Amino acid sequence: MKRPPRARGEKSPPVPQGPPASDRTPPEAIRPFLSHTRIAYFTMELAVRPEMRTYCGGLGLLAGDTARSSADLRIPMVFLTMLSRKGYFRQGIDPDGGQVELPDLWDPAASCERLPPVVTVEIEGRSVGIQSWLTVITGVDGFQNPVLLLDTDLDQNSKDDRTLSDSLYGGNAAYRLKQEIVLGMGGVRILRALGFRLQTYHLNEGHASLLTLELLNDFPASPRRVPARELDDRLSEVRARCVFTTHSPVEAAHDRFDYELVRRILRPTVDLATLQQLGGKEEFNLTRLGLNLSHYVNGVSLRHAETTRKMFPGYTIHGVTNGVHVPTWVHPALARLFDAHIPRWRPEPEMLVRALQLGEDEVWECHEIAKRELLDRVREKTGVALDPKALTLVFARRMVSWKRPLLLFEDPGRLTDLASRHPFQVVFAGKAHPRDRAGKRMIQRLHERIRELDGTVPGVFLPNYDMEWAQALVAGADVWFQNPLPPMEASGTSGMKSALNGGLNFSTLDGWWEEGCLEGVNGWSIPHTEGEESDRADAAAIYERLDSVLLPCFYQEPKRWRSMMKQAIGYVGPYFSSHRMLRQYAVGAYLRSAPPDDLGRKAA
Ligand SMILES: *Cc1c(COP(=O)(O)O)cnc(C)c1O
Repeated sequence: MKRPPRARGEKSPPVPQGPPASDRTPPEAIRPFLSHTRIAYFTMELAVRPEMRTYCGGLGLLAGDTARSSADLRIPMVFLTMLSRKGYFRQGIDPDGGQVELPDLWDPAASCERLPPVVTVEIEGRSVGIQSWLTVITGVDGFQNPVLLLDTDLDQNSKDDRTLSDSLYGGNAAYRLKQEIVLGMGGVRILRALGFRLQTYHLNEGHASLLTLELLNDFPASPRRVPARELDDRLSEVRARCVFTTHSPVEAAHDRFDYELVRRILRPTVDLATLQQLGGKEEFNLTRLGLNLSHYVNGVSLRHAETTRKMFPGYTIHGVTNGVHVPTWVHPALARLFDAHIPRWRPEPEMLVRALQLGEDEVWECHEIAKRELLDRVREKTGVALDPKALTLVFARRMVSWKRPLLLFEDPGRLTDLASRHPFQVVFAGKAHPRDRAGKRMIQRLHERIRELDGTVPGVFLPNYDMEWAQALVAGADVWFQNPLPPMEASGTSGMKSALNGGLNFSTLDGWWEEGCLEGVNGWSIPHTEGEESDRADAAAIYERLDSVLLPCFYQEPKRWRSMMKQAIGYVGPYFSSHRMLRQYAVGAYLRSAPPDDLGRKAA
């Protein structure tokens, strides 16, 4: 990419991190990646392996599945995330059913290699040192991509600064902003110090948006005193390099900071007027920054793209529906069946369309193994023995109001009546954010409701939902049950994981399920009623469908149920994979140049 000419008389800015890359020898471990990697993916969380506690939930699992697909597809990429030494948190449950938050420590040295270069960023006027750890993701045929985890726990840093890479989504707004400086600005500097020469930066959610400001610093003259025209050119250059994915229609999920905090902590090199032009007038909104400085912006399902267009009018918002890394989420028993009948399903999940030809009973036998394994583990963990023959609904999600975890219990009388005709049982799991009081109350209520229905509708709340539990739950569920309040579900991915295992989704039409649901073929919808009576009406719809459709089908038409399981695999697997998703990013965003609207200004 051509850089704008240096303005006459301007001095080069100080090089922020020691000598230029060419003067250093890159660490041995990183050298194989340098010559061909042109795409960097920045994300606050990334689920590499279950024992690395560098993720919280859906966003991190998605980043991990993206990394796994990049290696399978041999798309050279480097992934940047935080080390999160204390993880998000480990969830315990007290005797009253309340959530207890414990540190979730892990040992980076067990699976990652510390790389020598230390770079610094300015935070509150202090210089904060950042080092990186390397781990590698290997694809099906051995191709590897690097993941770098940023660490501020260095002797040279103050006690507080050393904690910046400790807690994922912990602390207050100031802590969050500092972490985002480390991720965005520190990440770009680490990449340069290691010798990467990159063309494209993918911002996975607004947490990574500050990297755009660092790229703006990349150009020769200080942006502070340049004519407006030249600044425009630079903004276009940054835009041409950046791709931004926004993940939530929930207003509170978009990071916003007041400008006083930004002035104190970030001390931006661009003037306030420019910063407001990029990040919003009243508050510094990192979603807006991402929108303004990326040439390609997308939401994570078609419905979510539409919702985002309404939230941020005037931007072109594409829709790239999320997907999951198929081999990671298929239970080993079923994987063996696929291996025998579906050639190349691991590198080419599109081949799962052939699942329609599997034998119903063979698919069922694999599912019985997965279900028994799940129920054994549930009993081990909680002491609750569930019945392997009974229809099992699983609701495993972040516990937050709009996902409505208590909706099933809206009318206990109706539920008891239902259970008297056909037995069924429920498994719940999910964490609430430590500062989400409503979410935490819901966990407590869930425990109460489960206790009240003891003996009628057997149920259990499984503490500490994480990647390993997710693998067991998605494979062992008969029905993957969700009832988000539309249009809050940006995409959702757990239902895809379950469908790959023959789980039948039963959910409101929102996020991915609006695209994936074939009524009565691969699962069922829950009709949604708008307005004040929404919860009552939606709950009534759930009871009605359980009573007249799901339960009779499970107990009286096993052959039909088993065909639907095959259809779930064959109609969900081929499209809702992270392979398809990443190919869309590659073709639609990474390889496509910025539209003339942005770059054209320069030519005009
Ligand atoms: C897949 C996954 C999620 C995201 O699932 P949703 O459908 O978005 O709720 C969250 N947590 C874990 C552990 C997962 O594996």
